[in-house]
Amino acid sequence: MPATKIYLDTYGCQMNLYDGELVTSLLDADGFIMTHDEASADVILINTCAVRGHAEQRALGRLRTLAAQKRTRRELVVGVLGCMAENLRENLRDQIPGLDFVVGPDAYRQLPNLIQEQLNGHSGTFHYVHGAPNETYSEVPPLRREGVNAWVAIMRGCDNFCSYCIVPYVRGRERSRSPQEIISEVETAVAQGFPEVTLLGQNVNSYTWPDLDFPDLLGRVAEIKGLKRLQFITSHPKDLSDKLINRMASGGVLGASLHLPAQSGSDRILKAMNRGYTSADYLRIVDKLREAIPGLALTTDLLCGFPGETQEDLCQTLDLIRQARFDDAFTFKYSERPGTAAAKLEDDVPEKVKVERLERMIDLCRQLSHESRQKLVGRKVEVLIENPSPKNSAEWTGRTRCDRVAIVPGNFHRGESVTIKVAEVRGFSLWGNRI
Ligand code: SF4
Repeated sequence: MPATKIYLDTYGCQMNLYDGELVTSLLDADGFIMTHDEASADVILINTCAVRGHAEQRALGRLRTLAAQKRTRRELVVGVLGCMAENLRENLRDQIPGLDFVVGPDAYRQLPNLIQEQLNGHSGTFHYVHGAPNETYSEVPPLRREGVNAWVAIMRGCDNFCSYCIVPYVRGRERSRSPQEIISEVETAVAQGFPEVTLLGQNVNSYTWPDLDFPDLLGRVAEIKGLKRLQFITSHPKDLSDKLINRMASGGVLGASLHLPAQSGSDRILKAMNRGYTSADYLRIVDKLREAIPGLALTTDLLCGFPGETQEDLCQTLDLIRQARFDDAFTFKYSERPGTAAAKLEDDVPEKVKVERLERMIDLCRQLSHESRQKLVGRKVEVLIENPSPKNSAEWTGRTRCDRVAIVPGNFHRGESVTIKVAEVRGFSLWGNRI
């Protein structure tokens, strides 16, 4: 009997990508074969995102197409994983006739048995599986794809309950992994040839363990032999301590970039979002960061069109953007998530106005981001080489210590560190020759 082939497609954030590597590991350990060829797969798994309505609609569209294939491929098994699985649960059976199972982000240990059950003739028996609230997948070594960066989740879940966010409802309460486990996973990744590690958490800087906080953990991980670069994502301003800033300022393998979602510049909206800080608090942190870490690349998330948002609120957000001088930003318009606190508010900002406000944020952020790249022209920067350039085989791409994409002419190998002199900015990338 040939081994069962499984095709896994992941949508969404870094945590979902990491979960995809855990799922691959669990299935590989049970003798399943992972394939990149959907047409030849016996089982298709869609690892979904629920952070915005659009992400769910995209996944639902994909699943309907797959489920329809079952009319001709009767043996095909189709399953849904990830945040939308946990968000919609059994309701997905009605929305996607022919779906075999729905498994939440904390229940992946049950996947191999569930798949085997389906293959053993229980196809058509729909299952929704909800996981253990304290699950951290300890002892499950992620099976990583090739690359220079290895994701390492140090905690799961979120306790912040920002009023617009579905994450705490689909990923549960915060629980941290033991430092020993994290350090051993990083050591393994380095031994596997990953020179860079990114520590992951929905709220990474609220990591905690008896007698050890996040800055301490960073210090311990930074000492690991062979590690060239250490990053972490996603931080919350309320947990951005002076101790963490000092740790980041110590440099070494710690990257010179930080992703710190601001979301809005209006204190009234920040309160309604339950973010737990004011725009003045946020800008105070930015000032401390910029003073302690010259050359820091600061990126953020910004949300416009939140219920009740006025033109004045948006102006305060644009003002915060100018004062913080973000090096890059991910900008979104409010998307009501059923079950969140904000869903009880009237979604009263017309779609047309949301789009206009989003465009104003994007224009300003793009201008600032280009200016911050332009400032690097003529400067020497260190680049961690990643891949041959898809556009020009005589060039390779990589990223600088402040996480900017760089294009370098010449021939290199993945994971090599080179110093270049930035000659120009091309779109969102730096371009320069090795020196
Ligand atoms: S910090 Fe807020 S926005 Fe981020 S995952 Fe938690 S609830 Fe969502």
